[in-house]
Amino acid sequence: MIGIVSDIMFMNHDTGDYHPECPLRIQYLHSLFAGNDDRQILLVDPVAASAEDVMLNHGRSYVEMISQTSRSGSLVDLDPDTVCSSESYDVALCAAGSLMELTKMAIDGRIDSGFACVRPPGHHARRDDAMGFCLFNNVAVAAHKAIRDFGVGKVAIIDFDVHHGNGTQESFYSDNRVLYFSTHQYPFYPGTGAVSETGSGEGTGYTVNCPMRGGRSDGHYMAVYLYILKPLIEAFEPGLILVSAGFDAHAKDPIGGMHVSSECFGAIAAVIGDAAEEVGAPVIYSLEGGYDLHALKDSVHHVVRVLKGDPAAVIEPTAFPEMESFIKAHAHMWPLGV
Ligand SMILES: [Zn+2]
Repeated sequence: MIGIVSDIMFMNHDTGDYHPECPLRIQYLHSLFAGNDDRQILLVDPVAASAEDVMLNHGRSYVEMISQTSRSGSLVDLDPDTVCSSESYDVALCAAGSLMELTKMAIDGRIDSGFACVRPPGHHARRDDAMGFCLFNNVAVAAHKAIRDFGVGKVAIIDFDVHHGNGTQESFYSDNRVLYFSTHQYPFYPGTGAVSETGSGEGTGYTVNCPMRGGRSDGHYMAVYLYILKPLIEAFEPGLILVSAGFDAHAKDPIGGMHVSSECFGAIAAVIGDAAEEVGAPVIYSLEGGYDLHALKDSVHHVVRVLKGDPAAVIEPTAFPEMESFIKAHAHMWPLGV
């Protein structure tokens, strides 16, 4: 059974006119699931996180600032591209809470996997800063919650958004209970995510960045997921896998500069699924970026098909120069490579 959170209430976070992170993104995805009579899909109602839950990853004064800014009733720019509207606080609590709910349901065995079609996205949100369209870091909050309250020992966060998830990396940089793995365009916004950023203190080696040149496509992504991500997950043996699922590496995306196809996102989901099955961990996806509406819908459709057990497209891995540096940076700790 696949748990899906898809609800038009996530359109209520208003980002103003002409913002790429727009409410229509939710409407497009909702059309995949509305009126669904697929017996493999369980539609789960949105659940609001408490402020205390969000404070597992964010400072109290920051959470209160978002609440007060929402209550002001007008559109407020928190940074050059991050907007807070009157509904934003409540919607952001629901984004984090819905991901937590799917995580709890998977840990309890009520669903096998999940996909949270939520906004605002989360992976750029820092402990005390909104950034890059993100208010609360949904995956980071859910990872903290799973460890503190759901009895999960280790969490892997896989981030295939075209941007590096700087906020998520920061949250767990010195934490060996949470492995952060990211493929992203580099150099690119937000500037972080070099291969040399591998964690600190007890967390050394538990941040694995795979920065890729713009223009990389399906075969390159398959190589990284098959030869870096899969052995990494099998060696780390997490009890839970959270995916920061951004679809802005799609060839049609107006912001990203990668050439990934919709089918490839399904193939990536299949590799993640194989690794997850190997270690017996549920996989819960949380929407991040993806700004071409048709490409976003098509890509999520391919991921959900794979979650339902349909075969993914066969995409041959293609070796490329950056791979060597990824393996070199981590081979002393993880059994990576072919
Ligand atoms: Zn992104």
